[in-house]
Amino acid sequence: FLLTLSLLIALTSAAGHGCCNRPPWLETFRRRSLLPVDIINLDSNDTSEFSADYGNIIKAAPSAVLHPSSPADIAELVRSAYNAPQPFKIAARGHGHSVRGQALAPGGVVVDMAALGDGGANDRINVRAAPDANSPPYVDAGGEQLWIDVLRETLKSGLAPRSWTDFLHLTVGGTLSNAGIGGQTYRFGPQIANVYELDVVTGKGEIMTCSREINSDLFYGALGGLGQFGVITRARIALERAPQRVRWLRLFYTDFGNFTRDQELLISMPAGGFDYVEGQALLGQKGVDNSSFFSSADVEKVAALAAQFDGLYMLEGGVYYDSSSSVDEKLEVLLKQLSFVPGLNFSNDVSYTDFLARVPELPDDGTLHPWLNLFLPKSRVRDFQIGVFKGIIKDTDPAALVLLYPMNKNKWDEGMSAAIPNEEVFYTVGLLRFATAENWKFLDGQNDEILRFCEEAGIEMKQYLPHYTTQEDWKKHFGDKWDRFAELKRKFDPKVLLSPGQHIFA
Ligand code: FAD
Repeated sequence: FLLTLSLLIALTSAAGHGCCNRPPWLETFRRRSLLPVDIINLDSNDTSEFSADYGNIIKAAPSAVLHPSSPADIAELVRSAYNAPQPFKIAARGHGHSVRGQALAPGGVVVDMAALGDGGANDRINVRAAPDANSPPYVDAGGEQLWIDVLRETLKSGLAPRSWTDFLHLTVGGTLSNAGIGGQTYRFGPQIANVYELDVVTGKGEIMTCSREINSDLFYGALGGLGQFGVITRARIALERAPQRVRWLRLFYTDFGNFTRDQELLISMPAGGFDYVEGQALLGQKGVDNSSFFSSADVEKVAALAAQFDGLYMLEGGVYYDSSSSVDEKLEVLLKQLSFVPGLNFSNDVSYTDFLARVPELPDDGTLHPWLNLFLPKSRVRDFQIGVFKGIIKDTDPAALVLLYPMNKNKWDEGMSAAIPNEEVFYTVGLLRFATAENWKFLDGQNDEILRFCEEAGIEMKQYLPHYTTQEDWKKHFGDKWDRFAELKRKFDPKVLLSPGQHIFA
């Protein structure tokens, strides 16, 4: 193993671990793992980006960063930690788009997953369009790959994954560690339900391939497993034929009941209805922003309505089609069944790629993101609307995107680690608020109030992209799944090395 080791470690001095103040384990680690000393980098600029995440709320420097050139490098690092007299913590960092420090490793080692793809992003995305006569197509993608790159590569074969997040600058390993949800989840399940096989480096430093049939406990555990059981270095993801175009719709409602009824109707339809269903609550806003979707005349039309009503809801839909299909007729039939405000339905016609890649990557301008994402049982979504939208956050500065859309529980695989409510239809609500150093604590206080409100009102919600700091709260979060989750931790990461930023295990 000594010969194959090609690790690039950057030591940070950013958090008091400078050259004269390194933790003792780091010296031992360097000696024992025979790291090539000439590529040890003491420049703290190199590691500062590994000390924070998209949330910009939690900052914690690692002692070192690993830039692996292969999964074997990650395995070697984990084995070194596992065998060290003082085991150290390790966090895989995908694209760092967590908001509560989940991909940080304070004082430990962050694995810069992007380095795995440095040989050229597409070396680690391999499409099998026709594996054999009876098997569906799939793509093998490195855990470090961004979904936008997976899309570009699979489209070359006229194929694409079928379940997406709204934003594609996230890694395969990062979203599969949570669930990966979006407007196709109601039909195909979350991204974790669309995976055939994984390669995982466990917390003992073993490289294991797993699937529903082989090492199935690791497979089910790792999907939605918050990085607790291993580092996902490859995922085999289901593909389908990619449509050419999308009719992208936005329909407005002043009545919350009509809005959710229509969403639920659409997600109950088999193929032949919409292909994408999401929604937003426009709270206290003067209307919609003049994004590329709306013309300026549309913006004024919506603003006039928003001024009259104390809450406006926007159903967002998508209908896929190819140039040959008669999308207009299909839409006419579908729209007749819906109860949006007459005349307030807008549409755009875009390519499938433009539709999926509609949310751009924004530069980090120092904005803080105290985001809260929840899953709510359908039976309590109205109570949530009254208590939260019309109560707790009613008069708050509207610099927010409030997502609200339903999905079908039967499209989730309950054997996987992700925790969801116990109702056949449940909603996701995403309070995506943009804060400054001055007001983020206020907004975060509101988040706490919302969680308290749910608790007191007996709304059995689950946090999505969960953030808890006590094990009691984690036990509650996982509910019936907790014992299994803890058992898998003992099996695959017995020294509790991995993803310390989730604060699940001491
Ligand atoms: P990171 O933040 O780097 O890591 C997240 C966690 O996973 C950490 O605990 C980390 O240690 C672990 N991890 C990372 N890589 C691996 C790996 N290869 N193996 C094992 N563990 C690993 N989510 C949705 O579901 N739908 C959306 O539409 C959506 N949109 C978003 C839009 C924005 C702008 C942002 C900031 C987030 C969005 N998210 C969405 C949330 C996002 O899916 C999660 O935050 C996800 O974890 C981010 O992926 P990442 O690659 O940045 O992971």
